[in-house]
Amino acid sequence: LIEITEVRKSFGDNEVLKGIDLNVEPGEVIAIIGKSGSGKSTLLRCINGLETINAGSIQVAGAQLATDELHLKALRLKVGMIFQGFNLFPHKTAGQNVMLSQMVVKKTPKPQAEEMAKKMLDRVGLGHKFDAYPDQLSGGQQQRVAIARALAMQPVALLCDEITSALDPELVQEVLAVVKELASEGMTLLMVTHEMRFARDVCSRVVFMHLGRVHEIGPPGEVFGNPKTPELRQFLGQTH
Ligand code: ATP
Ligand code: MG
Repeated sequence: LIEITEVRKSFGDNEVLKGIDLNVEPGEVIAIIGKSGSGKSTLLRCINGLETINAGSIQVAGAQLATDELHLKALRLKVGMIFQGFNLFPHKTAGQNVMLSQMVVKKTPKPQAEEMAKKMLDRVGLGHKFDAYPDQLSGGQQQRVAIARALAMQPVALLCDEITSALDPELVQEVLAVVKELASEGMTLLMVTHEMRFARDVCSRVVFMHLGRVHEIGPPGEVFGNPKTPELRQFLGQTH
């Protein structure tokens, strides 16, 4: 579904991605782990077309990532991205937040956008919060609205960048439960996460990034249970 081949990305003379290869099958749930600065967010941003790549190629559902604007837009429609901050419009209700990008980006007529918003808020367990404003919602609920907003665009895959990192510990699980549900429904997910137990339970593969490379990759049992490189062993030692 997502084919990443020899991807390189630099900021000035700082090469942040040094030749990334990764193939993501439909329905796969992949955790991306690694130290701060190893290039995890940059990789997701490249897949979503938020950053242009310097070399290599990225294909999503058969469409080649090109640097021209039209292709980038098409790509951004195909993959949804959710961030640590929820980025909801504070003066709009949950429902309006979910409706807005459909109407603006996809030109979906309002009645359909509204119907989709209701459906997706239901899906994340917030059907009853359609008319609530973000400041009337908990952080976990706001993040679930952000997930509903991404789902309303009907993406072929969802990219999640540390989506529980800004949440109080007691709110983390409700967001992870939604992600787990999506995974069980067959959604393709790429998530940068510090939730090692979640990665172990839910992910098909774990990618350990180190210095801009995929340093180790494998099923969670292998990556967590039998790390092959000293770098991964050290990383796991710090986070456990
Ligand atoms: P963290 O765990 O802290 O989120 P990360 O693995 O997501 O780290 P990235 O955000 O991908 O790391 O950053 C990798 C490197 O790229 C860092 O050295 C960072 O300073 C640099 N970098 C990222 N974005 C930019 C940018 N827009 N301009 C310049 N340098 C950048
Ligand atoms: Mg990051």
